Amino acid sequence: MDKIDFEKYADNIPKLEIREGEISIQDIDTDDVWKIVTENLRMVLDRVEYDSWFAGTYLEKVQNGVATISCSNEFKREAILRDYNKFLQSCLTKATGQNLQIEMIVKASEAKEPRERYKFVTNTGNPIMDLFTKMEGDKKKYEDAVKRARLNPRYTFKNFVIGSNNRLAEAVAQSVVSDLDNDSIAKSYNPVFYYGSTGVGKTHLMQAIGNEVLRKNPDRNIAYVSIEQFLNEMIEAIRTRKNEDFRSKYREVDLLIIDDIQFVEAYPKTQEELFHTFNTLYQANKQIILASDRPPRDIKNITDRLRTRFEGGMVCDIQAPEYETRLAILKQIMLEKGVTVPDLFLELIAKNIESSVRELEGALNKVITLTKLGEVPSYEEVARILQVDIESKRRRVTPERLLEVVSSVFDISIRFLRSSRKTDSIATARQVAMYLLRTELEISLKNVAKIVGRKDHTTVMFACEAIPKKIKLDPGLAEKVERCKRDLFY
Ligand code: ADP
Ligand code: MG
Repeated sequence: MDKIDFEKYADNIPKLEIREGEISIQDIDTDDVWKIVTENLRMVLDRVEYDSWFAGTYLEKVQNGVATISCSNEFKREAILRDYNKFLQSCLTKATGQNLQIEMIVKASEAKEPRERYKFVTNTGNPIMDLFTKMEGDKKKYEDAVKRARLNPRYTFKNFVIGSNNRLAEAVAQSVVSDLDNDSIAKSYNPVFYYGSTGVGKTHLMQAIGNEVLRKNPDRNIAYVSIEQFLNEMIEAIRTRKNEDFRSKYREVDLLIIDDIQFVEAYPKTQEELFHTFNTLYQANKQIILASDRPPRDIKNITDRLRTRFEGGMVCDIQAPEYETRLAILKQIMLEKGVTVPDLFLELIAKNIESSVRELEGALNKVITLTKLGEVPSYEEVARILQVDIESKRRRVTPERLLEVVSSVFDISIRFLRSSRKTDSIATARQVAMYLLRTELEISLKNVAKIVGRKDHTTVMFACEAIPKKIKLDPGLAEKVERCKRDLFY
């Protein structure tokens, strides 16, 4: 594991304010605490690392100074205790205000028979709708179908905010729903391949399709699986020589939704069978919907046949939402949770968190958690909470992006920034680039030199000393450097 300075991140975790006598530790909502902790883990760890260790973990209870966390197997238990104990501990301390020891337990039964993954929440928004959905028989049938399909009922079209980033994707989704409403044959697009970076709403949209199809017709047979689940099942079928059973099981579904298909990269040997399963479904006109964090052409290690299959229907991207959409999403989440957060905070969040709705939600949740305890956090406090996210954004800025920003603020082409021209204005802009690469992106002197085409890193050292002095003397320059930072990080 990469050695990350966990302490540094843990410092930014919001703390539930607990006053003596007001709230005791037993009253703490373990869900809330665990949400804060895991949100933070997600921001610090990369996706695969997070999923490998923390997917399926849960804060069972907090008692007598001990936080009991469950996970699905002994291997995970040991790894978490070995590699993440200290970080988890400080996250928990920060989130609860208590110094807690960690106890990890294995809930083996969970692996075989997952606890009910999602809770149904009765809709109380619209009394007429409620009356209808409460027609118990239908409701039960719908709920059972959703569970069977392994869908999360929370993901619906109603709470999916449409913006320019996902308009096409949503339209495609609606047309799949209406195809499946008429009869169970895929007509418009098959397969549908959604791609977009993490947290932009792929899973939400795909599950909304499933939920909507079942709402209209609970008799439709739907399966939602991650590619890992799907492949594991397939490998097991091959091992036990039940390929045919596996294929016919999936042949019976009307709609197959496979999430995070990019992980197929890790299973090169299963491609033949995957291809056949795909073909079987495809030829039977079964609707297939896939999601990936990258387009088919960028998925490595897959055969051309499979890639061609992926590309054969509708390939549709989902981008990160724009500011207005981000704000609308935050308002939508508030509505769902039945809480209000001042506009000022919403704007602060929407402005600072750009790339992922998941992070957007995470930030809002933190603010909500503070507000729930009757505290109205100060603007500074909220900004401080967001620091975690700004921090993660800082890590995502590439040197190329930094050069682009400097080039546009100083109106000097990147080619000149990398050249040896010594004109005053070019030399200053180049020094600013070196200074920002070094101080903001924390790139080593040697690598900064490489990025701007210098042989010698002493030039970089010199720039890092000179720029702060020049900034003090020249307000125009100071303003430009600020603008660079703003464009990069805020
Ligand atoms: P992905 O699968 O692309 O990584 P998810 O679908 O898991 O992203 O989305 C992350 C979170 O953001 C989910 O809780 C989801 O409900 C929410 N979300 C994403 N896009 C939207 C949207 N357009 N409107 C409302 N919520 C959204
Ligand atoms: Mg997803």
